Amino acid sequence: MPNSLVPVFDGHNDALLRLHRSGVEDPITPFLEGEASGHIDLPRARAGGLAGGLCAIYVPSPSMTKDANGDFPTPAQPDALNETLAMARLLFDIESRSNGALTVCRSAEDIRRSMDAGSFAAVFHIEGAEAIAGNLDALYVLHQAGLRTLGPVWSRPNIFAYGVPFRFPSTPDIGPGLTEAGRDLIRACNELKIMVDLSHMNEQGFWDIAALSKAPLVASHSNVHALCPHSRNLTDRQLDAIRDTGGLAGINFGVLFLRDDGVRDTNTSLDLLVRHVAYIADRIGIDHVALGSDFDGTTIPAELKDAAGLPRLIEALRVHGFNDEELGKIAWRNWVDVLGRSWSA
Ligand SMILES: [Zn+2]
Repeated sequence: MPNSLVPVFDGHNDALLRLHRSGVEDPITPFLEGEASGHIDLPRARAGGLAGGLCAIYVPSPSMTKDANGDFPTPAQPDALNETLAMARLLFDIESRSNGALTVCRSAEDIRRSMDAGSFAAVFHIEGAEAIAGNLDALYVLHQAGLRTLGPVWSRPNIFAYGVPFRFPSTPDIGPGLTEAGRDLIRACNELKIMVDLSHMNEQGFWDIAALSKAPLVASHSNVHALCPHSRNLTDRQLDAIRDTGGLAGINFGVLFLRDDGVRDTNTSLDLLVRHVAYIADRIGIDHVALGSDFDGTTIPAELKDAAGLPRLIEALRVHGFNDEELGKIAWRNWVDVLGRSWSA
């Protein structure tokens, strides 16, 4: 990548789901060579300085129609493990066909080496653990295959916990916390040194994990509730707990999680995104804020457009007053450091 670009290591993208559902026979070639749709492919990543990130595997519910409360239904997902394996295979197929342009990373050292070599540093992440049954057999096997971070829930209940529904304006304090199976899952993640991702947890689940887990508290793609009162965002108390454990929050680019009016409007200034970053830096310190784009998973500001637009965000952060060292922390270093701590703790 050109020297002037600040590299970005990002906490959340849904590229694998987009490719998996694209319906084309070979979704890998367009990802490697560039395409018009979506937010991420390797040429646009290179153009924008996107050097790597957590590549989520997420299995949508059979029906994504909301119920009367505006919540997503409890899914019956008999195919969740197969769907998860299909997307994991896609990730490994991309790696093997990329001629070194993408590397599946299993350690912080892997990430640093890949970034230095200009190879997209991908981390195998699961968002919502429906693929894993209560006996946790799949967790141990997926870990052997390279799984390094996991969110117990997406925004729906499963056997482990109760995902926070999408509500606005709303507190994140909706529903019960971890189940017994959920407590076993967190203990096993600590044992295997799989990072537990708190984005999509409701508030009780967050505090249950805070009390149980030995690892830093990390929310890969969640914003500031004080600036945007969406149920998916983090309260000041949650941010303080993240600081106290050496964790971080990755700022989500989704307009629904940025705006204080709850409107899905792509005409949203990058200055607002900067305000979320600055709020966390001011409250809990520059070491605890990073990026969690949600590329290919949400509606982002038109000004950003896609991964190639990242330099415009870096510039907005620079104009706000962040210096080079701070920009490096926000853009990639905090993520690599917290993953290193999570994987060795
Ligand atoms: Zn998400």
